Amino acid sequence: MQTHEIVRRFTAHFENAGHTSVPSASLILEDPNLLFVNAGMVQFKPYFLGDVPAPYPRATSIQKCVRTPDIDEVGKTTRHATFFQMAGNFSFGDYFKRGAIEHAWSLVTGSPDEGGYGFDPERIWVTVFETDDEAIELWREIAGLPEERIQRRDGEDNYWDMGVPGPGGPCSEIYYDRGPEFGADGGPVVDEDRYLEIWNLVFMQDERGELSPKKGNPPIGTLPHKNIDTGMGVERVAFLLQGVDNVYETDLVRPVIAKAEEFSGKRYGSNTEDDIRFRVIADHARSGVMIVGDGVTPGNEGRGYVLRRLLRRIVRSARLLGITEPVLGAFAEVVRDAMSPTYPELASDFERISAVIRAEEETFLSTLSAGSRIFETAVEETKRAGGSTLPGDQAFALHDTYGFPIDLTLEMASEAGLSVDRDRFAELMGEQRTRAKADAATRKVGFVDASVYRAVLDTHGGTDFLGYQTLSSEAR
Ligand code: ATP
Ligand code: MG
Ligand code: MG
Ligand code: MG
Repeated sequence: MQTHEIVRRFTAHFENAGHTSVPSASLILEDPNLLFVNAGMVQFKPYFLGDVPAPYPRATSIQKCVRTPDIDEVGKTTRHATFFQMAGNFSFGDYFKRGAIEHAWSLVTGSPDEGGYGFDPERIWVTVFETDDEAIELWREIAGLPEERIQRRDGEDNYWDMGVPGPGGPCSEIYYDRGPEFGADGGPVVDEDRYLEIWNLVFMQDERGELSPKKGNPPIGTLPHKNIDTGMGVERVAFLLQGVDNVYETDLVRPVIAKAEEFSGKRYGSNTEDDIRFRVIADHARSGVMIVGDGVTPGNEGRGYVLRRLLRRIVRSARLLGITEPVLGAFAEVVRDAMSPTYPELASDFERISAVIRAEEETFLSTLSAGSRIFETAVEETKRAGGSTLPGDQAFALHDTYGFPIDLTLEMASEAGLSVDRDRFAELMGEQRTRAKADAATRKVGFVDASVYRAVLDTHGGTDFLGYQTLSSEAR
């Protein structure tokens, strides 16, 4: 079943059940805690918080999502994309646990001839929050699930909140057992690769005080209106229904792998390391295009830095596959062709999108050719001296003089079998920051003349930006 059909069925299923279909929000919403929209509920937050009355009691959406914390998983797990589409259904004080479970179960296991996905009910497992006996009872009654396929999990996994006082509630997640060839028996609490999470149902029922129930304290009350927030991973369902091995091989992502095969002359599926690179390319090309499509340009901090890192990782991975010519324009075209039936603005705005992406590639290619030689020398020297750690001073010099981002140095060092003295690197960065502060006035003047300082900006890619790890907390 193609991705567009999976999406179509989701929307139809919930429209038939009285939900208003709401278009995806942009990836960029003004929210101080969020770099990118990372869940379907984000655009509905005011309704959940009760700040604004919901204009409809039930809604459904297919939301564009970017999850930067998953970047290091890409290509290595079967299931983590930096860009994916989250299909969701939402109830604002309308139906609650029973409705959420009934709606999800009937779509997941419903006959393909009648609009369902046709998953074998015998292979479905679910998790519930450890004290949520009500959810267990409903899963038994509605789905006829035996006790051993309903697993209890603690608050770290199965309790949702926003990390601040406000609504919260237990979750229940739906998993599909891919079979014993993919891992150990025992359900999702044992193995999340064999048992693939496809859908998360959040039962928003509690009012939370200062401390999270995750840390053991009970909620301070019950919400006057209980809400439902769910998220189903479209690419994960596609991965299962298309009989492929991971989300990167699904119909809308795989074409970029094919393009990279063409450029490199290598075949996907013949070498484990190369396969990871192919998957990184396909994933990042898609997220890169989608992020530029929503108006972000590469830069040194925040969203711009995330975008820069994604695009540069594509270039790096392509080089490791033996590709030396510029490729981002060609990859972007493939993404446009796959995604524009759903997001037509990618086609109408393509000239701009492509120009932004190609310019970043050009800048990075010149950075790379200068820095790589220095890096190789540093590696040789370290090895010749019998060391296994690249000195922090070298990493800093690469960053400071040649514009090598530290994550790139880390990645390349690890490929060369070396670690990096990160403490020393951090120390030097700290000293530089202090100097920069003292020199703030000069810097200000410098940044005004963008033509002169363009190269400086370009080569000092985002090294001061730590929010990458800290800002992009997941919505659930
Ligand atoms: P996982 O445990 O596999 O990382 P999650 O629990 O973080 O997933 P949720 O926050 O519950 O995911 O998001 C709802 C749904 O979105 C998941 O059930 C999954 O189907 C999908 N999803 C989450 N993260 C990704 C991702 N990085 N790539 C593709 N789909 C995802
Ligand atoms: Mg996750
Ligand atoms: Mg999970
Ligand atoms: Mg989940």
